[in-house]
Amino acid sequence: MTRLQHSQELLTLQSIFEGIDDAIFCHDLDMRITHWNPAAEQLFGYSHEEIIDESVYLLIPENRQQEKSDIMRDIIAGKRIGQFKTIRRTMAGLEIPVSITISPIRDPEGQVIGSSQIARSIIEENAAEEKQARLAAIVASSDDAIVGKSLQGIITSWNIGAENMFGYTEQEAIGQHISLLIPPDRLDEEDVIIENIRAGKKVDHFQTIRRTKGGQQLHISLTVSPILNKTGEIIGASKIARNITAQKEAERSIAKSMERMEILNSISKSINEDLDLQHILQKVTDATTRLIGADFGAFIYNQVDQAGESSWLYTISGASKATFENFPIPRNTAVFQQTFSGEGVVRIDDITKDPRYGKNSPYFGMPEEYLQVVSYLAVPVITHSGVVIGGLFFGHQEAGIFKKEHEDLVVTVASQAAVAIDNSRLFEEVKNLSDKKDEFIALASHELKTPLTSMSGFLQVLQRAVPDGTAKIFAEKALNQLAKLNELVNDLFDISKIQAGKLQLNFEPFDLSNLLNEVADTFEQAHTAYHLKMSADGELLVSGDKMRLEQVLTNLLGNAVKYAPEANEITITAIRIGSEIHISVKDQGPGISIENQQQIFSQFYRVKEHERNTSGLGLGLYISKDIIDRHGGRIWVESTQGHGATFTFALPAFTN
Ligand code: ADP
Repeated sequence: MTRLQHSQELLTLQSIFEGIDDAIFCHDLDMRITHWNPAAEQLFGYSHEEIIDESVYLLIPENRQQEKSDIMRDIIAGKRIGQFKTIRRTMAGLEIPVSITISPIRDPEGQVIGSSQIARSIIEENAAEEKQARLAAIVASSDDAIVGKSLQGIITSWNIGAENMFGYTEQEAIGQHISLLIPPDRLDEEDVIIENIRAGKKVDHFQTIRRTKGGQQLHISLTVSPILNKTGEIIGASKIARNITAQKEAERSIAKSMERMEILNSISKSINEDLDLQHILQKVTDATTRLIGADFGAFIYNQVDQAGESSWLYTISGASKATFENFPIPRNTAVFQQTFSGEGVVRIDDITKDPRYGKNSPYFGMPEEYLQVVSYLAVPVITHSGVVIGGLFFGHQEAGIFKKEHEDLVVTVASQAAVAIDNSRLFEEVKNLSDKKDEFIALASHELKTPLTSMSGFLQVLQRAVPDGTAKIFAEKALNQLAKLNELVNDLFDISKIQAGKLQLNFEPFDLSNLLNEVADTFEQAHTAYHLKMSADGELLVSGDKMRLEQVLTNLLGNAVKYAPEANEITITAIRIGSEIHISVKDQGPGISIENQQQIFSQFYRVKEHERNTSGLGLGLYISKDIIDRHGGRIWVESTQGHGATFTFALPAFTN
């Protein structure tokens, strides 16, 4: 090498030494610093002037000085130490993690005369490592399945959570395609997910179904995010799956119990609105068969006819009566004895395995085309007074269908049915016992009023006390039903008074138009969907019982709502004609046939078509007529079927 070349090389090295980002410094064997570049100044804080000739131990924390001596032994022996991680101290006394490469410096004879050091701060590197370790710990300990996959869908990482959730070990899963976990009918989902990921989009809380190693289907919530490399390129996706099977099941079971509540509610509503025994039993049988998912249901009950003859009757749901016609009712088996005797419920997973069933039992004799029922549930229906009316029977062709929950449901329905049957019987008796009837009604309605009033009080308190939600809605529904009940009891009470000649009227002169306005206001508040038209002309003075006339008007308006639910327009007209005041309530409902028009003002009369789907005792018009009669007035109806009904009452106008 020429001198020139040599000096050029020195200059090059010098410029590297000055310009490089790593701290470079040298010291001799006395540990005195001989060279110090600007990056060293930057890292340690000492300027060139401050540090040259100073001991290198200035840069080494006390507890690391032994380490330095050990290194020096190696250096003197001519060894190089690469990327040694340790701690160094800055001028400000700060201890910083560094990575140092230490090499011996030799004289031309090859003798070691010192060492050169290249140091780099690794603060950031350490922080990144720490962060990664922390993340790795989170991933490892998570209960969620955390899975990495390439853009081609190949699984690249698999945590313990994934192993627990899907049943595959890390070795089994890594390298496999993600479709391993996807049910065949959902494979398309993966394309959509990957499409999103390629577009850099996250897929958040996607609810779907995945498959375990054992073939079990899991409801999971998936969050998939793109994985980016250092240059921001999307290289794969991380998938976090949470098992929401339990949550889904809970949701399903809530929905199921809500549905059951609704059915139970509708059963109780419809059977209580009905007073015809056969109807009640058919409704109960139909609804309960549906409620518990039975193949067939039957209500078998004991009926005593007028001659005192006892016979078994039944209603059937889910199968034709012919199916059972050739079999004795109750069926010839001891198994259901318990139900018929009222002792309790019989629930059987497979009747053919029950020794009590016997070889001659209907099942074995049944022709092929009949229902081959093996699962059975039989619940006695017992009245309040302890009389076994009969039993509800349900069957299914598969074994083990009926569970405790079904039993509980049927027991609830059975007790509701018993009450409804009791009511219907009571009603029949009340209708037929003409001598005792009036006395009974008076007593019953009177006795009913007290508990009703207190129930209504408690419910109102409850309804105000509970927060918004299901409980409040139920309280409101209960109050509505109670209001209806109250009306019925009031009607009964009035009837008993009319019959006993005790319905007192307090006559006073007053303007009917005021009363009409009050009644209209109350009505409009309660029935916002209705349009109430009113035309009242001038002063309408009458002498009458204000409360009782209000009752008549309310009854007519109530009927217009009840029997014309589709038509929401009602017209009230009040007009003086000669010496009378005529008040009419006109609806747009289905109207009333001529035959029925002649009957509806009599006691207990209800139009047949209305009996099934509306509540009522057929007393409102009877009472109204009595009230109007006793005012010296008249009440009548005009109607053409299909064109609404107009009820009018006429009262003598008051003149002083
Ligand atoms: P309830 O309403 O309790 O049955 P009411 O004495 O008030 O008793 O009515 C007797 C019957 O008259 C009702 O059952 C119904 O069939 C019929 N009815 C009453 N008002 C109307 C109306 N506005 N439109 C059609 N039918 C009516």
